[in-house]
Amino acid sequence: MDSYLEESILKRAQKEKKIKVNIYNPRDFSTDKHKKVDAKPYGGGPGMIMQVEPLAKTIKKILGKIKDKKTIKIIIFSPSGKKFTNLDAKKYSKYKNLILICGRYEGIDARVKKIFSAKGGSASGGKVEEISIGDYILTGGEIPAMVVIDSVSRQIPGVLGNLESIEENRTSSSEMYTRPEVFKFDKKKWIVPKILLSGNHKNIEKWRENKKTIK
Ligand code: SAM
Repeated sequence: MDSYLEESILKRAQKEKKIKVNIYNPRDFSTDKHKKVDAKPYGGGPGMIMQVEPLAKTIKKILGKIKDKKTIKIIIFSPSGKKFTNLDAKKYSKYKNLILICGRYEGIDARVKKIFSAKGGSASGGKVEEISIGDYILTGGEIPAMVVIDSVSRQIPGVLGNLESIEENRTSSSEMYTRPEVFKFDKKKWIVPKILLSGNHKNIEKWRENKKTIK
């Protein structure tokens, strides 16, 4: 994950202390002499499951470092979770602390979610959310975590530069153009829609709003 965090906007956000990313390895909390964190599933089936103990201990350690438990949201990544959207990114950006749990192997013991969702439990910061970043299966939750870190960070005031934030808040669309106005390729002319050259900002905004897919 370091390579992505050490580039561009996320690098600057960390340097300017707008965000902080701490990475914890559940192996460090394993009592097994080989630092194992996985075991076969009860009831049979293929693959291995991440065990409850190392993960519960890791999360407890993290929770112990946070004073105000109401500022915490725990997220477990799972391909069968609720589909992550930009509205979730906006919602999560209001939390001071996000604990992102990345699964590996065939997933994690379901008790992790139960323990930290339990009323009066260690977290008591609300429901643990199970999140999917799309209908496909990855080998681990690290890429989903990066997706959440990236999209949530850009919702935090000051993470995007002034110009970038103005752009973020303006009506943008999935169909944008820049110079040249006419591009010749494959013996054809590829032209910019006339409306964008009209100078009529009201109509341009309307056109962009219609093309917009992400709110
Ligand atoms: N057997 C599991 C299933 O079908 O739900 C797949 C586990 S997957 C190989 C291993 C881990 O990768 C998951 O526990 C989860 O943390 C992460 N992962 C894989 N695909 C994901 C997705 N689309 N969204 C979020 N997390 C995902």
